[in-house]
Amino acid sequence: MTVLELRDVRKTYPGVDALAGLDVSVARGEIVALLGPNGAGKTTTFELLLGLIRPTSGDVRVFGEEPGGRVRTRIGAMLQAAGLPDQLQVRELVRLIGRGYPTAVQVDEVLARTSLTKRATRTVKSLSGGERQRLLLALALVGTPELLLLDEPTAAMDVASRRTFWEQARASVADGATILFATHDLTEAAAVADRVVVVAGGRVVADTTPDALTHHGDDDLEEVFLALTNESSTAADEGDDR
Ligand code: ATP
Repeated sequence: MTVLELRDVRKTYPGVDALAGLDVSVARGEIVALLGPNGAGKTTTFELLLGLIRPTSGDVRVFGEEPGGRVRTRIGAMLQAAGLPDQLQVRELVRLIGRGYPTAVQVDEVLARTSLTKRATRTVKSLSGGERQRLLLALALVGTPELLLLDEPTAAMDVASRRTFWEQARASVADGATILFATHDLTEAAAVADRVVVVAGGRVVADTTPDALTHHGDDDLEEVFLALTNESSTAADEGDDR
């Protein structure tokens, strides 16, 4: 079953093609990494899937429906620019967000899963960067989502938190969820994802397994990534000059 699909999607801002004909499809139970240099269009893709913005052209579907509205309650999201109410306590915020979902799990269970039990009565403002990321995961998990959209979810996390994070994310997949996540950490992508989608200049330049991307480990992942994305940015820059 296809969980999400973007077909020939363009998103244009004045002077910028954030997406220039993006084609991505993710099936139920997959963990897919979205890779790409700064400005490639990763966050724009998440915003479209959440219904926060609309495409200039092309088709975006989540569980076969237009993004936003009813289908939003089937998605748990961690976005880079997520603003949080600083004065609320951690448990209060998780409970509050849980109320927006039809199938909220127990708040204390989510706090335990994200190692936040000891921080439950602390204010959001007092959390460290990594704890804040774990809180964002708690908020993404509280509605028992079928789809997790995670934009650089482990960016501020230490090694142990990252490991716990992916254990929790995998547990959600074992329960039937699907994950699309963006990262700049190629090693993390290769270790965690079933499939990597490399985006550059608003288009997909590779869509394959981590193993196939490096020709079964014969090629260096970073070199492969740079070759794929440099070629594409050069072509885009040349296009700009015309
Ligand atoms: P990063 O790795 O830096 O987070 P990204 O792949 O998430 O990058 P996007 O945030 O999707 O990239 O941005 C894609 C392009 O669209 C960039 O050139 C960005 O400046 C532009 N862009 C995104 N949102 C807007 C907006 N609201 N107005 C104008 N331009 C925008």
